[in-house]
Amino acid sequence: MNTTKSSNKTQDGIVSQRLSEASCQQHFSDLHQPLTKYGALVEADRCYYCYDAPCQTACPTGINVPSFIGMISQHNNHGAAGKILTENIMGGTCARACPVETLCEQACVRNHEDDGPVRIGMLQRYATDQASQDQVSFFTRAEPTGHSVAVVGAGPAGLACAHAMAVLGHDVVIYEAQAKAGGLNEYGLAAYKMVDDFAQKEVDMILSIGGIEIRHGVRIGTNLSLADLQARHEAVFIGTGLGQSRRLNLADEQAHGVENAIEYIHDLRQTERLSDLPVGRKVLVIGGGMTAIDIAAQSKLLGAEEVTIAYRRGQEHMNASDHEQAFALENGIRLVFWAQPIKLEVQSNALVGVEFASTQGDNFTLSADVVFKAIGQTLLPLEGNLSLTSGRIEVDTEQRCSVDGVWAGGDCIAGGEDLAVSAVQDGKVAAKSMHQWLVCGQNQTRQSEV
Ligand SMILES: Cc1cc2nc3c(=O)[nH]c(=O)nc-3n(C[C@H](O)[C@H](O)[C@H](O)COP(=O)(O)OP(=O)(O)OC[C@H]3O[C@@H](n4cnc5c(N)ncnc54)[C@H](O)[C@@H]3O)c2cc1C
Ligand code: SF4
Repeated sequence: MNTTKSSNKTQDGIVSQRLSEASCQQHFSDLHQPLTKYGALVEADRCYYCYDAPCQTACPTGINVPSFIGMISQHNNHGAAGKILTENIMGGTCARACPVETLCEQACVRNHEDDGPVRIGMLQRYATDQASQDQVSFFTRAEPTGHSVAVVGAGPAGLACAHAMAVLGHDVVIYEAQAKAGGLNEYGLAAYKMVDDFAQKEVDMILSIGGIEIRHGVRIGTNLSLADLQARHEAVFIGTGLGQSRRLNLADEQAHGVENAIEYIHDLRQTERLSDLPVGRKVLVIGGGMTAIDIAAQSKLLGAEEVTIAYRRGQEHMNASDHEQAFALENGIRLVFWAQPIKLEVQSNALVGVEFASTQGDNFTLSADVVFKAIGQTLLPLEGNLSLTSGRIEVDTEQRCSVDGVWAGGDCIAGGEDLAVSAVQDGKVAAKSMHQWLVCGQNQTRQSEV
């Protein structure tokens, strides 16, 4: 769907201005209202400060949750933010976007009580927002080491690695294909999770350490090669994410109305006016993960009349958590299971429906004027001799790749979680390893084989 079309009618059923701009703005306001001071103190008071706290273990970045909650209780919000950001420089984004119901909050011992887990994500947001509002800086850069490292991609993995390397005194150049930094924080996360240009504010905070230069509009593999980076810098970190949406591999996939969810969300996150986006009347989403839920919910909030998610397996197999599924249902989205798309129904090169094979009965067709593909992304390969597993980059426990002097992390690596918080952790772990490699000599062999 060309989201820049000026006409408000792109074809029957797909129109812009379905809702007024004021309604759209209201629908896309903050998903969760931030805690007030009083609310934060009451919530912090619920923490039992467990020894060997399970929430800390469940957090991929290992934030000392009881410790920062204790600081909030003592009105030391800046101290709490410092604790959080030292482990997770994107603690602000993670507070908004982590699926806490499967991470720290799932592990909270208060789940066994009627009033549910401590709202760790909300407390984390409270502390980091306070620090950001008060413009507190927690990091100072070490004396320059003279070492230069390249980072490919300014997403959560790349920025976390760059920040940690800059703190240690190394000079970092980030090569970023897009015009803005932040990766999917800027171009992918649901708009109602990242209101008020939060992604760019966080990027600014990260870059304020100094020593990090971002070169925008450079795509490694096209404008420059991995070998070029190795010649210019002593070490390279790859944090490219996954650039390519999976295809359905059905006939007529180029028809009008057959869209990649990621591309539409990209436009949604960048538009000046939400009401200008073309929106289908009947929207079908193919997929079962976070992206499927996000594109379905955002279509509905933009005014689509009927939104259905069709998933090829059962509800219990969906990658989207119970919480996310419940969110979809609350927004009036229908979930259809055991539905494998087998044919795009197209008339005059425009989508009119999708035929599904069902493992639990007869084939059936759902009418639609838009179908969003949300069936995952694959790695756009960088040339070079990097070993891959299942199409993603192999790394060892220190995030080292099969090529000496190259590290990788985030969505582009094999075996990852595909979450912002995991990408941050990968960047952090890689930076530690890169630093050791740079300061202890570059001839040491890899300690653990990939
Ligand atoms: C629609 C959607 C919703 C999501 N929602 C959530 C959520 O709510 N919570 C959550 O925790 N996670 C969510 N995720 C997952 C999360 O966004 C990712 O796990 C995370 O962004 C991965 O970080 P990354 O740094 O590895 O990659 P990315 O964020 O993808 O960043 C990669 C960066 O590299 C750049 N790049 C790519 N190739 C090149 C190249 N060759 N040369 C130079 N630059 C390049 C890209 O432009 C981009 O800026 C969502 C993902 C999607 C797709
Ligand atoms: S970063 Fe995410 S998982 Fe870790 S404590 Fe914060 S909200 Fe929980």
